[in-house]
Amino acid sequence: MTARTMLQARKIVKSYGELTVLDGLDFDVEHGEVVCLLGPSGSGKSTLLRCLNRLEKPDAGVVSVDGEIIGYRHAEGRLHELQGRELARQRADIGMVFQRFNLFPHRTILENVIEGPRVVRKESREASVAHARELLDRVGLAAKVDAYPNHLSGGQQQRVAIARALAMRPKLMLFDEPTSALDPELVGEVFAVMKDLARDGMTMIVVTHEMGFARDVADRVLFMDGGHIVEQGTPEDVIGNPRAERTRAFLARVN
Ligand code: ADP
Ligand code: MG
Repeated sequence: MTARTMLQARKIVKSYGELTVLDGLDFDVEHGEVVCLLGPSGSGKSTLLRCLNRLEKPDAGVVSVDGEIIGYRHAEGRLHELQGRELARQRADIGMVFQRFNLFPHRTILENVIEGPRVVRKESREASVAHARELLDRVGLAAKVDAYPNHLSGGQQQRVAIARALAMRPKLMLFDEPTSALDPELVGEVFAVMKDLARDGMTMIVVTHEMGFARDVADRVLFMDGGHIVEQGTPEDVIGNPRAERTRAFLARVN
């Protein structure tokens, strides 16, 4: 591990009954790197992201973020498994944006964004509101702070979800098909926000089927199948000139 390593995943195993979804998967992500994760439906992309932030407990393997092992803490030379509040605090370092936005429908946009920092980070109302306004401005929604989620378009709601994740001041961001539930004309505004984040130096892992975004923004593309990373490299290499037969077959289907 180098000083530049933000995330390290080692020998991650996850099975559901007889089905081994992640079969000893290894990869690293550097500080500020944008990694796009590609793979056929059912290949375990969502499972992997959930294992990285411990929404799902891997059966084996270790994930560390910025040198901290996720799900554990060191004390007296031993590892102790984190639970409840401690785990929530650690997990707050890893922002996650899902296909579905999951905003609280009966709270305003502003209230949605300050919830995590207030509850998990114990920020004052004043500080969390100031930060939320700044973030909502950044995602182009300054005018919507007092609106309710169902008065916003899908693209706007997803931008709120990104602001909500950023409000926790995460060290890295995971995106699980963030534009898959959107009407095509709304995809661009969400990708624009993500691109801006990437430019600003955020470390990001993005599951997407949008090859245009991967080509444009990713520093590295990983193709996963059969529980492993099958192939990885620059977008030009992996998308433009895939070596593995499985990568080629996948790209022929999505392009
Ligand atoms: P992807 O995101 O690449 O489409 P997933 O990670 O969602 O793939 O799923 C990988 C495989 O694991 C699929 O076969 C899926 O049915 C299975 N799976 C995912 N979550 C569960 C679960 N909670 N229980 C049982 N099987 C699951
Ligand atoms: Mg998925």
